[in-house]
Amino acid sequence: MSETTARQGAAVRARAEIDLDALRSNVRTLRALLAPGTALMAVVKADGYGHGAVPCARAAVQAGATWLGTATPHEALALRADAGLPDDVRIMCWLWTPGGPWQEAIEAGLDVSVSGMWALREVEDAARRAGRPARVQLKADTGLGRNGCQPGPDWHELVGAALDAERAGLLRITGLWSHFACADEPGHPSIAAQLTVFREMTAYAEERGVRPEVRHIANSPATLTLPEAHYDLVRAGIALYGLSPSPELGTPADHGLRPVMTLSASLALVKRVPGGHGVSYGHRYTTPGDTTLGLVPLGYADGIPRHASSNGLVLVDGKWRTVAGRIAMDQFAVDLGGDEPPAGAEAVLFGPGDGGEPTAEDWAQAAGTIGYEIVTRVGARVPRVYVNE
Ligand SMILES: *Cc1c(COP(=O)(O)O)cnc(C)c1O
Repeated sequence: MSETTARQGAAVRARAEIDLDALRSNVRTLRALLAPGTALMAVVKADGYGHGAVPCARAAVQAGATWLGTATPHEALALRADAGLPDDVRIMCWLWTPGGPWQEAIEAGLDVSVSGMWALREVEDAARRAGRPARVQLKADTGLGRNGCQPGPDWHELVGAALDAERAGLLRITGLWSHFACADEPGHPSIAAQLTVFREMTAYAEERGVRPEVRHIANSPATLTLPEAHYDLVRAGIALYGLSPSPELGTPADHGLRPVMTLSASLALVKRVPGGHGVSYGHRYTTPGDTTLGLVPLGYADGIPRHASSNGLVLVDGKWRTVAGRIAMDQFAVDLGGDEPPAGAEAVLFGPGDGGEPTAEDWAQAAGTIGYEIVTRVGARVPRVYVNE
């Protein structure tokens, strides 16, 4: 971080520093795991897992991602409009509801996912209105039990109808794809079972005449641990942002990944209090003796999980301090044990960990959740400060 940025950063209540060099390095690390013909999709849904979709998309493309993925069509349309990306960068979105912006998506050249007949019919109508073919990826439910078309008669009907529409010039079937349920638990029997069903469902479609540009099923954990699932494209989300998909898969460093976000705040107040003083709503913490309290101006409105009350960790002045009592909407306290850093001193909630600070995974464990949720929920009230652009 340049000194200017540091001073500007210090002037704000709190900031999420986003290290785009780390993101680019993570993209290169992931690409090194792929066979030469396999492409990387950078998943930037949910505002880039809280990191900012546009800057992260640009950095990922700079480092060699050739696809971008979002959940909603609105996210994908915004990327196409705002990110200034080369036209040959493909953007795919997969979570549609009836009445969605199909025509806009077709006009923007997005790849749209279709999981059932209602969606195929809406795509066909929109393609007629747009006067150009849609790029459609058929999604198979190979066992996740969420979105996607069931194997068997449902898949046969969907593939047949999509081929009819392709012959009519309304669409091109650009992809066949699916999603894992338990890829973050290596050896889980559902992984091999889903791969078998995926092979069967893609083989059926290809026998009927589908010629997809890409077949894909791998998310971050499968990208890191399951080369046989890479196919033509892998869809990496959390690994791009430098977090491990789960503690069972090791730390980010075990995979050569570096966390991209550092969340910190300036202490709003440091004060002396006597022993026996209740702290924050419900007085769930009482000072054990004379001590000092530091006030961290971040709360659950900023995405700091209330479930981490009395548990979350913060680095202040070189020491780990535990959240004292409840995390409120805008603020929480830490017991500084008599130390008196000045108001404005930096409190680091999480980062890569190599400056001694806790990690997003530490917060996930303190709150009983996953690292994905910790970074994604950092609220809009926290400015993102981009470094190494
Ligand atoms: C979010 C998402 C991904 C990325 O998952 P990670 O575990 O973050 O890599 C991939 N595919 C689909 C369909 C998703 O919804």
